[in-house]
Amino acid sequence: MALYRLIYVSQAIAGLEYPDFIEISQKSEFNNKKVGITGMLSFGDSMFLQVLEGSRRTVSQTYNRILLDKRHVNAELIDFSEIEHRSFSVWSMKVVQITNQSEVRDIILKYSSSDVFSPISMTGEQSLNFLFELTELYKKGAMG
Ligand code: FAD
Repeated sequence: MALYRLIYVSQAIAGLEYPDFIEISQKSEFNNKKVGITGMLSFGDSMFLQVLEGSRRTVSQTYNRILLDKRHVNAELIDFSEIEHRSFSVWSMKVVQITNQSEVRDIILKYSSSDVFSPISMTGEQSLNFLFELTELYKKGAMG
């Protein structure tokens, strides 16, 4: 079965708080597990950057549902491509908060014009590499 990867960016509405992320994280893990979606959701500086992996149908359905969510606005698709294999297969949805830690800001700067998290100005490749490096930092236990 063909596998697809979708990456998008969106803007959080004002006043979104930590409990909202917990709720989104729990709901995403629960729903995604049921349909075989894996991926990662990063949030910082009022922006979301999310990658979804799975079958074309489930990725499309999940993305369409996410777009209706009033907790974010101005979603922009960065990439939607066929992939050989999953890159985030251990996570049905890992939610990672972008902090002011210097290691995190260094990765942002590596793929952006400044160390402010602005995934809207990243290419598909930059956003994916950014998420890979964030994953490595997380796995090393060096985040938060
Ligand atoms: P319910 O939880 O019953 O929700 C029904 C409706 O109410 C939906 O339209 C939902 O958007 C809305 N809603 C629920 N809670 C709130 C709230 N606290 N404030 C405002 N509206 C609310 N879902 C996934 O399944 N997988 C994902 O990977 C995923 N990623 C997300 C990423 C972002 C940035 C955001 C903002 C949301 C994400 N969600 C994800 C949540 C998704 O948008 C839906 O809320 C969720 O999938 C709906 O789950 P449900 O069908 O069980 O309906």
